[in-house]
Amino acid sequence: MSQIIDGKAVSVKIKNDLAVEVASLRESGVKPGLAVIIVGNNPASRVYVNNKKKACEEIGIYSEEYALNAETSQEELINLVEHLNVDDKINGILVQLPLPEHIDENAVIQAISPLKDVDAFHVQNVGHIMIGDFEFLPCTPSGVMELIHSTGIEVEGKNCVVIGRSNIVGKPMAMLLLHENGTVTICHSRTKNLAQITAGADILVAAVGRAKFVTADMVKEGAVVIDVGMNRDENGKLCGDVDFEAVKDKASFITPVPGGVGPMTIATLMKNTVKAAKIQNHME
Ligand code: NAP
Repeated sequence: MSQIIDGKAVSVKIKNDLAVEVASLRESGVKPGLAVIIVGNNPASRVYVNNKKKACEEIGIYSEEYALNAETSQEELINLVEHLNVDDKINGILVQLPLPEHIDENAVIQAISPLKDVDAFHVQNVGHIMIGDFEFLPCTPSGVMELIHSTGIEVEGKNCVVIGRSNIVGKPMAMLLLHENGTVTICHSRTKNLAQITAGADILVAAVGRAKFVTADMVKEGAVVIDVGMNRDENGKLCGDVDFEAVKDKASFITPVPGGVGPMTIATLMKNTVKAAKIQNHME
Protein backbone atom coordinates (compact mmCIF):
# COMPACT_ATOMS: atom_id res chain seq x y z
CA MET A 1 0.00 0.00 0.00
CA SER A 2 1.51 3.30 -1.03
CA GLN A 3 1.48 6.70 0.59
CA ILE A 4 -0.46 9.30 -1.32
CA ILE A 5 1.54 12.48 -1.99
CA ASP A 6 -0.85 15.28 -1.13
CA GLY A 7 0.00 17.98 -3.68
CA LYS A 8 -2.81 20.17 -2.42
CA ALA A 9 -1.34 20.23 1.11
CA VAL A 10 2.21 20.89 -0.12
CA SER A 11 0.94 23.70 -2.37
CA VAL A 12 -1.08 25.30 0.45
CA LYS A 13 2.06 25.47 2.58
CA ILE A 14 4.00 27.14 -0.28
CA LYS A 15 1.17 29.62 -0.87
CA ASN A 16 0.91 30.45 2.84
CA ASP A 17 4.65 31.14 3.01
CA LEU A 18 4.37 33.29 -0.13
CA ALA A 19 1.47 35.29 1.36
CA VAL A 20 3.69 36.21 4.31
CA GLU A 21 6.53 37.17 1.96
CA VAL A 22 4.24 39.23 -0.29
CA ALA A 23 2.84 41.12 2.73
CA SER A 24 6.36 42.07 3.75
CA LEU A 25 7.30 43.04 0.16
CA ARG A 26 4.23 45.26 -0.03
CA GLU A 27 5.30 46.97 3.18
CA SER A 28 8.56 47.85 1.49
CA GLY A 29 6.68 49.21 -1.54
CA VAL A 30 7.04 46.19 -3.85
CA LYS A 31 3.74 44.78 -5.14
CA PRO A 32 4.27 41.64 -7.26
CA GLY A 33 2.06 41.63 -10.35
CA LEU A 34 1.13 38.92 -12.86
CA ALA A 35 -0.52 39.39 -16.26
CA VAL A 36 -2.35 36.38 -17.66
CA ILE A 37 -3.30 36.33 -21.33
CA ILE A 38 -5.86 33.89 -22.67
CA VAL A 39 -6.84 33.72 -26.34
CA GLY A 40 -10.05 32.01 -27.44
CA ASN A 41 -12.56 29.88 -25.55
CA ASN A 42 -10.76 26.66 -24.61
CA PRO A 43 -12.70 25.49 -21.51
CA ALA A 44 -9.67 23.80 -19.90
CA SER A 45 -7.58 26.97 -20.39
CA ARG A 46 -10.37 29.01 -18.79
CA VAL A 47 -10.28 26.77 -15.69
CA TYR A 48 -6.47 27.06 -15.44
CA VAL A 49 -6.59 30.86 -15.80
CA ASN A 50 -9.32 31.15 -13.14
CA ASN A 51 -7.25 29.01 -10.76
CA LYS A 52 -4.19 31.19 -11.35
CA LYS A 53 -6.16 34.37 -10.69
CA LYS A 54 -7.62 32.84 -7.51
CA ALA A 55 -4.13 31.91 -6.27
CA CYS A 56 -2.95 35.50 -6.90
CA GLU A 57 -5.84 36.81 -4.79
CA GLU A 58 -5.08 34.37 -1.95
CA ILE A 59 -1.43 35.40 -1.84
CA GLY A 60 -1.85 39.15 -2.39
CA ILE A 61 -0.33 39.22 -5.88
CA TYR A 62 -1.78 41.90 -8.16
CA SER A 63 -3.17 40.30 -11.33
CA GLU A 64 -4.48 41.44 -14.67
CA GLU A 65 -6.33 39.22 -17.11
CA TYR A 66 -6.39 39.81 -20.86
CA ALA A 67 -9.09 37.62 -22.43
CA LEU A 68 -8.70 38.00 -26.19
CA ASN A 69 -11.02 36.60 -28.81
CA ALA A 70 -9.99 33.61 -30.92
CA GLU A 71 -9.51 35.79 -34.01
CA THR A 72 -6.79 37.91 -32.37
CA SER A 73 -3.81 38.16 -34.73
CA GLN A 74 -0.29 37.15 -33.79
CA GLU A 75 0.79 40.76 -34.24
CA GLU A 76 -1.87 42.04 -31.82
CA LEU A 77 -0.89 39.43 -29.25
CA ILE A 78 2.83 40.23 -29.56
CA ASN A 79 2.04 43.96 -29.28
CA LEU A 80 0.25 43.26 -25.99
CA VAL A 81 3.19 41.20 -24.70
CA GLU A 82 5.61 43.98 -25.63
CA HIS A 83 3.44 46.52 -23.84
CA LEU A 84 3.41 44.32 -20.70
CA ASN A 85 7.19 43.84 -20.95
CA VAL A 86 7.61 47.54 -20.09
CA ASP A 87 4.66 47.87 -17.68
CA ASP A 88 6.07 48.47 -14.17
CA LYS A 89 2.97 47.02 -12.46
CA ILE A 90 3.62 43.68 -14.11
CA ASN A 91 6.49 41.43 -13.02
CA GLY A 92 5.38 38.20 -14.67
CA ILE A 93 3.65 37.48 -17.98
CA LEU A 94 1.87 34.22 -18.64
CA VAL A 95 0.38 33.36 -22.02
CA GLN A 96 -1.98 30.43 -21.51
CA LEU A 97 -1.28 27.65 -24.01
CA PRO A 98 -2.45 26.29 -26.37
CA LEU A 99 -2.96 29.29 -28.66
CA PRO A 100 -5.25 29.19 -31.72
CA GLU A 101 -3.62 27.50 -34.71
CA HIS A 102 -2.99 30.68 -36.72
CA ILE A 103 -0.63 31.96 -33.98
CA ASP A 104 2.97 30.75 -33.74
CA GLU A 105 3.31 29.88 -30.04
CA ASN A 106 7.06 30.04 -30.14
CA ALA A 107 7.08 33.55 -31.63
CA VAL A 108 4.84 34.73 -28.80
CA ILE A 109 6.89 33.04 -26.07
CA GLN A 110 10.12 34.50 -27.42
CA ALA A 111 8.52 37.99 -27.34
CA ILE A 112 8.16 37.78 -23.54
CA SER A 113 10.97 39.50 -21.67
CA PRO A 114 13.11 36.69 -20.13
CA LEU A 115 12.93 38.62 -16.83
CA LYS A 116 9.12 38.38 -16.84
CA ASP A 117 8.97 34.83 -18.26
CA VAL A 118 7.50 33.17 -15.16
CA ASP A 119 6.71 29.98 -17.11
CA ALA A 120 10.43 29.70 -18.01
CA PHE A 121 9.68 28.84 -21.64
CA HIS A 122 11.86 31.54 -23.25
CA VAL A 123 14.98 30.09 -24.93
CA GLN A 124 17.18 32.17 -22.66
CA ASN A 125 15.62 30.62 -19.54
CA VAL A 126 15.61 27.16 -21.12
CA GLY A 127 19.35 27.56 -21.71
CA HIS A 128 19.87 28.63 -18.09
CA ILE A 129 18.03 25.52 -16.91
CA MET A 130 20.17 23.34 -19.18
CA ILE A 131 23.39 24.59 -17.61
CA GLY A 132 21.94 24.51 -14.10
CA ASP A 133 22.21 28.28 -13.47
CA PHE A 134 18.66 29.58 -13.45
CA GLU A 135 16.30 32.09 -11.89
CA PHE A 136 13.00 30.54 -12.97
CA LEU A 137 12.13 26.89 -13.23
CA PRO A 138 9.24 25.71 -15.38
CA CYS A 139 6.20 25.41 -13.13
CA THR A 140 5.15 21.79 -13.57
CA PRO A 141 8.58 20.07 -13.41
CA SER A 142 9.60 22.28 -10.51
CA GLY A 143 6.38 21.36 -8.69
CA VAL A 144 7.11 17.69 -9.33
CA MET A 145 10.57 18.05 -7.76
CA GLU A 146 8.99 19.56 -4.65
CA LEU A 147 6.62 16.62 -4.41
CA ILE A 148 9.51 14.17 -4.73
CA HIS A 149 11.38 16.10 -2.00
CA SER A 150 8.29 15.89 0.21
CA THR A 151 8.66 12.09 0.28
CA GLY A 152 12.15 12.37 1.80
CA ILE A 153 13.51 10.15 -0.99
CA GLU A 154 16.81 11.25 -2.54
CA VAL A 155 16.97 11.44 -6.34
CA GLU A 156 20.74 10.89 -6.39
CA GLY A 157 21.68 7.54 -7.91
CA LYS A 158 18.07 6.54 -8.62
CA ASN A 159 16.83 5.24 -11.93
CA CYS A 160 14.44 7.96 -13.06
CA VAL A 161 12.17 7.46 -16.06
CA VAL A 162 10.18 10.28 -17.63
CA ILE A 163 7.50 9.36 -20.15
CA GLY A 164 7.03 12.35 -22.44
CA ARG A 165 9.48 14.77 -24.05
CA SER A 166 7.51 17.99 -24.46
CA ASN A 167 9.35 21.29 -24.02
CA ILE A 168 7.08 22.29 -21.15
CA VAL A 169 7.09 19.08 -19.11
CA GLY A 170 9.13 16.07 -20.24
CA LYS A 171 12.45 17.66 -21.26
CA PRO A 172 12.83 20.11 -18.34
CA MET A 173 11.62 17.38 -15.97
CA ALA A 174 14.44 15.11 -17.11
CA MET A 175 16.93 17.96 -16.71
CA LEU A 176 15.86 18.72 -13.12
CA LEU A 177 16.18 15.04 -12.17
CA LEU A 178 19.61 14.99 -13.80
CA HIS A 179 20.67 18.10 -11.84
CA GLU A 180 19.93 16.10 -8.68
CA ASN A 181 22.13 13.25 -9.92
CA GLY A 182 19.39 10.87 -11.02
CA THR A 183 20.16 8.46 -13.84
CA VAL A 184 17.53 9.61 -16.28
CA THR A 185 15.81 7.90 -19.21
CA ILE A 186 13.36 9.83 -21.39
CA CYS A 187 10.67 7.80 -23.17
CA HIS A 188 8.32 8.92 -25.95
CA SER A 189 6.00 7.55 -28.61
CA ARG A 190 8.84 5.89 -30.56
CA THR A 191 10.35 4.19 -27.51
CA LYS A 192 10.63 0.43 -27.85
CA ASN A 193 9.95 -1.87 -24.88
CA LEU A 194 8.46 0.99 -22.87
CA ALA A 195 7.02 -1.24 -20.13
CA GLN A 196 10.40 -2.89 -19.61
CA ILE A 197 12.09 0.50 -19.18
CA THR A 198 9.45 1.92 -16.84
CA ALA A 199 9.51 -1.27 -14.76
CA GLY A 200 13.13 -0.45 -13.89
CA ALA A 201 12.30 3.03 -12.58
CA ASP A 202 12.76 3.95 -8.93
CA ILE A 203 11.14 7.27 -9.80
CA LEU A 204 8.60 7.29 -12.62
CA VAL A 205 7.13 10.52 -14.00
CA ALA A 206 4.27 10.17 -16.48
CA ALA A 207 3.60 13.16 -18.77
CA VAL A 208 1.89 11.52 -21.71
CA GLY A 209 -1.63 12.90 -21.92
CA ARG A 210 -3.37 9.51 -22.14
CA ALA A 211 -5.86 8.36 -19.54
CA LYS A 212 -4.64 5.46 -17.35
CA PHE A 213 -1.73 4.78 -19.73
CA VAL A 214 0.63 3.52 -17.00
CA THR A 215 -0.58 0.15 -15.77
CA ALA A 216 0.61 -1.87 -12.75
CA ASP A 217 2.85 -4.17 -14.83
CA MET A 218 4.83 -1.08 -15.96
CA VAL A 219 5.72 -0.10 -12.38
CA LYS A 220 8.47 -1.41 -10.13
CA GLU A 221 7.47 -2.52 -6.63
CA GLY A 222 8.18 0.39 -4.26
CA ALA A 223 8.64 3.03 -6.99
CA VAL A 224 7.76 6.71 -6.53
CA VAL A 225 5.10 7.43 -9.17
CA ILE A 226 4.33 11.00 -10.22
CA ASP A 227 1.36 11.54 -12.49
CA VAL A 228 1.45 14.79 -14.49
CA GLY A 229 -1.39 13.83 -16.85
CA MET A 230 -4.70 15.67 -16.89
CA ASN A 231 -7.17 13.68 -18.92
CA ARG A 232 -10.83 12.72 -18.98
CA ASP A 233 -11.79 9.08 -18.57
CA GLU A 234 -14.60 7.32 -20.42
CA ASN A 235 -17.13 8.92 -18.03
CA GLY A 236 -15.71 12.42 -18.49
CA LYS A 237 -14.09 12.32 -15.05
CA LEU A 238 -10.68 13.99 -14.56
CA CYS A 239 -7.92 11.39 -14.39
CA GLY A 240 -4.17 11.13 -14.82
CA ASP A 241 -1.84 9.11 -17.04
CA VAL A 242 -1.52 6.43 -14.35
CA ASP A 243 -4.07 3.76 -13.56
CA PHE A 244 -4.16 4.96 -9.96
CA GLU A 245 -6.28 2.18 -8.46
CA ALA A 246 -4.06 -0.57 -9.87
CA VAL A 247 -0.70 1.15 -9.31
CA LYS A 248 -1.29 2.47 -5.79
CA ASP A 249 -0.73 -0.96 -4.25
CA LYS A 250 2.65 -1.30 -5.94
CA ALA A 251 4.18 2.16 -5.56
CA SER A 252 5.75 3.42 -2.33
CA PHE A 253 4.50 6.95 -3.04
CA ILE A 254 2.02 8.11 -5.67
CA THR A 255 0.35 11.39 -6.65
CA PRO A 256 -3.41 11.45 -7.22
CA VAL A 257 -5.21 13.32 -10.01
CA PRO A 258 -6.69 15.71 -9.09
CA GLY A 259 -4.81 16.94 -6.03
CA GLY A 260 -1.27 15.99 -7.03
CA VAL A 261 0.86 17.86 -9.55
CA GLY A 262 -1.84 20.35 -10.68
CA PRO A 263 -1.88 22.52 -7.53
CA MET A 264 1.93 22.50 -7.47
CA THR A 265 2.11 23.99 -10.97
CA ILE A 266 0.13 26.99 -9.77
CA ALA A 267 2.11 27.32 -6.52
CA THR A 268 5.36 27.41 -8.52
CA LEU A 269 3.93 30.06 -10.85
CA MET A 270 3.18 32.20 -7.80
CA LYS A 271 6.72 31.59 -6.49
CA ASN A 272 8.21 32.62 -9.84
CA THR A 273 6.11 35.79 -9.91
CA VAL A 274 7.32 36.83 -6.44
CA LYS A 275 10.89 36.03 -7.45
CA ALA A 276 10.50 38.08 -10.66
CA ALA A 277 9.28 41.06 -8.58
CA LYS A 278 12.31 40.76 -6.30
CA ILE A 279 14.75 40.51 -9.23
CA GLN A 280 13.18 43.49 -11.01
CA ASN A 281 13.41 45.50 -7.78
CA HIS A 282 17.06 44.50 -7.28
CA MET A 283 16.27 42.54 -4.12
CA GLU A 284 17.90 39.31 -5.42
P1 NAP B 1 2.46 16.66 -25.12
O1 NAP B 1 3.17 17.87 -25.59
O2 NAP B 1 1.31 16.12 -25.91
O3 NAP B 1 3.53 15.49 -24.96
C1 NAP B 1 3.16 14.18 -24.70
C2 NAP B 1 4.37 13.30 -24.73
O4 NAP B 1 3.95 11.95 -24.52
C3 NAP B 1 5.12 13.32 -26.08
O5 NAP B 1 6.51 13.44 -25.86
C4 NAP B 1 4.77 11.98 -26.71
O6 NAP B 1 5.80 11.42 -27.50
C5 NAP B 1 4.55 11.11 -25.49
N1 NAP B 1 3.69 10.00 -25.84
C6 NAP B 1 2.48 10.03 -26.44
N2 NAP B 1 2.01 8.77 -26.62
C7 NAP B 1 2.95 7.94 -26.14
C8 NAP B 1 3.06 6.54 -26.06
N3 NAP B 1 2.11 5.72 -26.55
N4 NAP B 1 4.16 6.02 -25.49
C9 NAP B 1 5.14 6.81 -25.00
N5 NAP B 1 5.08 8.16 -25.04
C10 NAP B 1 4.01 8.71 -25.62
O7 NAP B 1 1.90 16.84 -23.65
P2 NAP B 1 2.45 17.73 -22.42
O8 NAP B 1 2.14 19.15 -22.67
O9 NAP B 1 3.84 17.32 -22.08
O10 NAP B 1 1.46 17.22 -21.27
C11 NAP B 1 1.39 15.86 -20.89
C12 NAP B 1 0.22 15.66 -19.94
O11 NAP B 1 0.43 16.46 -18.79
C13 NAP B 1 -1.14 16.11 -20.50
O12 NAP B 1 -2.14 15.28 -19.96
C14 NAP B 1 -1.30 17.52 -19.94
O13 NAP B 1 -2.66 17.90 -19.81
C15 NAP B 1 -0.66 17.34 -18.59
N6 NAP B 1 -0.15 18.57 -17.99
C16 NAP B 1 -0.47 18.76 -16.68
C17 NAP B 1 0.02 19.88 -16.02
C18 NAP B 1 -0.32 20.05 -14.59
O14 NAP B 1 -0.18 21.13 -14.08
N7 NAP B 1 -0.74 18.98 -13.91
C19 NAP B 1 0.83 20.79 -16.70
C20 NAP B 1 1.17 20.55 -18.03
C21 NAP B 1 0.68 19.41 -18.67
P3 NAP B 1 6.30 12.10 -28.89
O15 NAP B 1 7.15 13.27 -28.48
O16 NAP B 1 7.08 11.02 -29.54
O17 NAP B 1 5.07 12.51 -29.64
